[in-house]
Amino acid sequence: MIQVKVKCPYCGQSLMTDEKKIDNHPSVKVSIKLKDKTGFLYLSSLYGSYKIITEFDLPMDAIVLFFCPHCNADLRGDRLCDKCNAPMVVFKSFTGGNIQICSRRGCKKHLVEFENLEDELLSFYKAYPLFFSNITKKEKE
Ligand SMILES: [Zn+2]
Ligand SMILES: [Zn+2]
Repeated sequence: MIQVKVKCPYCGQSLMTDEKKIDNHPSVKVSIKLKDKTGFLYLSSLYGSYKIITEFDLPMDAIVLFFCPHCNADLRGDRLCDKCNAPMVVFKSFTGGNIQICSRRGCKKHLVEFENLEDELLSFYKAYPLFFSNITKKEKE
């Protein structure tokens, strides 16, 4: 499995934390908001793992707002998920490029845009040629 290491695209501080380990690796910590609830969300840093730890229950299909735990920037990007039309959330990868995930709980859409390809990622790219193509933004239905 590939471990991703991400930081905030706005303040540049690392989102990796040892506070909670998921899949035996440091997790990605973000602040989240769902309706009137706020708290921390920890995501597995292993690409392809969808394990999370949350401070409150996230119902399936809920769209969650993601914020940087350091600078509170809204991490929502300008793309919508091409599966479910929820906003994509953008993280900056330490290896260059962006990693985007769908903000809808339960949607497994991930998008990776690496600037520098590492050898171990090549097979991964071959398996997911979609990541090379441009995703056109869809209007909300
Ligand atoms: Zn930040
Ligand atoms: Zn989605």
